[in-house]
Amino acid sequence: MNKKIFSEKCNLSSYTTIKVGGVAEYFAEPRNLNEFSYLIKWANLNKLRCQVIGAGSNLLINNIFIKGIVICTKKMKLLKIEPYSGIVEAEAGVMLPVLSNSLAKNGLRGGEWAVGIPGTLGGAIYMNAGAYNLSLAKNLISVKVINNKTHKIFEIEKKDINFEYRFSSFQRNDLIIISARLRFEPNGNLEQIIKTTKNNLKLKTETQPYYQPSFGSVFKNPKNNYAAKLIDDLGLKGFQIGGAEISTMHSNFIINNSSASSKDIYELITVIQQKVLQNRGIYLQPEVRMIGFDYPN
Ligand SMILES: Cc1cc2nc3c(=O)[nH]c(=O)nc-3n(C[C@H](O)[C@H](O)[C@H](O)COP(=O)(O)OP(=O)(O)OC[C@H]3O[C@@H](n4cnc5c(N)ncnc54)[C@H](O)[C@@H]3O)c2cc1C
Repeated sequence: MNKKIFSEKCNLSSYTTIKVGGVAEYFAEPRNLNEFSYLIKWANLNKLRCQVIGAGSNLLINNIFIKGIVICTKKMKLLKIEPYSGIVEAEAGVMLPVLSNSLAKNGLRGGEWAVGIPGTLGGAIYMNAGAYNLSLAKNLISVKVINNKTHKIFEIEKKDINFEYRFSSFQRNDLIIISARLRFEPNGNLEQIIKTTKNNLKLKTETQPYYQPSFGSVFKNPKNNYAAKLIDDLGLKGFQIGGAEISTMHSNFIINNSSASSKDIYELITVIQQKVLQNRGIYLQPEVRMIGFDYPN
């Protein structure tokens, strides 16, 4: 590869939905598998840490210098839909709202829930993101991956992937998601599917601070409880540290009031955890992933 396909000293704040982030030593947005695998090999050859991000919608990146290379998948966005069989092939950077709306337009059922999640397919598989007790795991056939250490590219079948609530085995291995094959239900009622998809987005925007900078739900729901309710019951709605605020619309969301630093947000997360633990004896585990902090992800 002759052309340099990465940049140096890239500010990552515009690559996260909460609009904070540090400076990556190297940064790249590969447009295809060739570029992707080249970057991973290049990072390994130069003994650089390689971290992959999608839409940054579940990420808190510390405002520090992030050594190594950060690779963003958002330009890997090929999407092939076979309306008759319901088979879908999508690259890691395909956004869930795009996938959801495209499925609806093709009369495919099963992706209506995903319309309001502003993340990529890769991020959604990694996080096992979901709504209304549904996630992509239900429709998954297989995932194409590249090993971050060996550079080997191979396909994993769904049966060999462990999915739990906001967890997938990708959180414990060195595999980077390149693309996935999925199957949705064909021959649905087009009008009905489009209506349900639209309604799901409407519901989301009416109940969550959807248009403000956030990273979605901060904490996982503890067993038989709701993080939002625990936070709400302590009267913490609207509580702020610096520019970080617990949303008055949804207590499990932290919003960036334009000037928040990653430190403000991290401190607010810690304060919520301490207050809920002291008052209710429950430890709230963050759903959000962190880069550049000592927090064990
Ligand atoms: C307004 C709002 C609403 C949201 N609503 C929901 C919701 O209803 N349900 C829900 O589950 N989540 C929700 N989220 C959170 C978030 O959108 C999801 O977790 C989403 O799946 C994250 O995808 P991403 O591409 O943004 O991943 P990122 O935030 O970029 O990354 C998340 C993690 O995935 C890893 N990763 C990303 N891509 C890859 C890849 N290709 N290969 C390997 N690892 C990868 C990253 O290293 C990181 O650890 C919401 C967020 C916002 C801002």
